[in-house]
Amino acid sequence: MEYKMFLIKYAEIGTKGKNRYVFEDILCKRMRSRLKRFGSFEIKRDYGRIFVEARSEYDFDDVVATLQQIFGIVGICPVTVVESLEYDEIAKGVVESIDKEYDDRDFTFKVNVRRNNKEFPITSMDMNAKLGGELLAKFEDEGLSVDVHKPEITVNVEIRKIVYIYSKVIPGPGGLPVGTNGKAVSLLSGGIDSPVASYMIAKRGVEIEAVYFHSPPHTSERAKEKVKELGRIVSQYSGVMKLHIVNFTDIQLAIYDKCPHDELTIIMKRIMFKLAEDIAKRDDCQCIVSGESIGQVSSQTTFSLGVINEAVDEIPIFRPCIGMDKQEIVDLSLKIGTYETSCLPYEDCCTIFVAKHPVTKPTLEQIKKSEEKLKGVIEPLYKEALDTMEIVYLR
Ligand code: ATP
Ligand code: MG
Repeated sequence: MEYKMFLIKYAEIGTKGKNRYVFEDILCKRMRSRLKRFGSFEIKRDYGRIFVEARSEYDFDDVVATLQQIFGIVGICPVTVVESLEYDEIAKGVVESIDKEYDDRDFTFKVNVRRNNKEFPITSMDMNAKLGGELLAKFEDEGLSVDVHKPEITVNVEIRKIVYIYSKVIPGPGGLPVGTNGKAVSLLSGGIDSPVASYMIAKRGVEIEAVYFHSPPHTSERAKEKVKELGRIVSQYSGVMKLHIVNFTDIQLAIYDKCPHDELTIIMKRIMFKLAEDIAKRDDCQCIVSGESIGQVSSQTTFSLGVINEAVDEIPIFRPCIGMDKQEIVDLSLKIGTYETSCLPYEDCCTIFVAKHPVTKPTLEQIKKSEEKLKGVIEPLYKEALDTMEIVYLR
C-alpha cells in the first residue's frame, strides 16, 4: 500500500458559516458510502480538515477515481505519514515522499511547515530551511530548485501528534455535496443533453430523481435500457437515483389522433413536464430539470420554451444547458462518461411522432385551443400514466 491517508480539500463548503458542519457531515457520509466497497476506511475530521485513512489494503486508482466523482471535493492529496517527531524521521519522510510521487524532479519548490504541535522544538521557519536543504541535497542534480515566491510544488509538512506530508493535489469535481440542496426531478431521455443537465444540477448539491417517458412498442426495450444505463452513470456522481418510467404511448397516440401534427412536440412536451411536476410534488422535489438549449430544435426556441413552461405552475424548471453550444455539451458528456451511451442509436419517443415541419413560434393561445380537443380523452390516460409508473433505483 502506497498511502495510508488522503487529505481532502473542499473549497466552497468552507464558506457556509454555521452550515459548514452540515455540509461536512454530508460530504463525509458520501465518502464513506462510496469508499466502503474498496476496503476499510476511516473518514475523520480534524482541525477543520477531512482525512481519509485506509485501514486495509486498497487500490489507489479506484479510490482516487471514486473520490474524483464526489461533489464537494476540490482536491485529493495523498499524504505520507510519519509516526514520529524525530527530525531525522521527518526528513526521511519528506525525501521519500518526493521520491515516490514524482518521476521527474526538474521543478521549483518550497517547503511549507505548519507546527500545530507547539511542543515540537524546531520553529516552522527553521524547519522550512532544514527540510528544503535535505531535498536539495538529494535532488538538486536532477533539476530541483527552490522558489519561495512562485514554486511549482509546495511540500506541505504538518506537525501534529504525528507528521503529515503532502505536495500533490489531484483535482476533484468541485461543486457541493449531494443532499445539501434539496431534490429535483430530471427529465432523462436517451440523448446527450439531459444526462449532462442532471449532472450539472447534482453538482450543486441537489439530489436527482429521474423520469423517462417510454412509448412501447414505438420505443424499444433497448431504448429503455439505454436510459437506465445513462442514469446509472450519472448516479456515480449524484448517488442512488430513483427512476420513474412512465408509459407514454397512449398519451402520444391521443395527441397524434386529436391535435394538429405540427404542434405534436409542443403539446407532448407540455404533458411530460406536467407529469414531471406531479411526480415532483409526490416525492418532495422542489424543481424540474431538463436538457434543453436555446435554438437546438424547434421545440427549443424561446417561443416554444415559453409555451412549455406555462404547463408547470408551481415549481421552477432548471435548464442548465440552456446557453451552451452542442459541442460544449458534448465535451461535458465525454468528461462525465455518458457520451458513448447517449450515442447508441435507439429511437426516442419524440422522434417517432415528430412532424415534418413542427411549429417554431407557437402561441399559448393556439396551443391551448388545440389542447381543448384532448378534453375527456386525456384525463384518464394521464391518471393511468401516473398510476402505472415503473420505479427502479439506479446505482
Ligand atoms: P436530449 O439530448 O437530452 O435527449 P434533445 O436535444 O433530444 O435532448 P428534445 O428531444 O427536444 O431535445 O428534449 C428536450 C428535453 O426534454 C430533454 O433534454 C429531456 O430533458 C426531455 N425529454 C425529451 N424526451 C424525453 C423522454 N422520452 N423522457 C424524458 N425526458 C425527455
Ligand atoms: Mg432527445
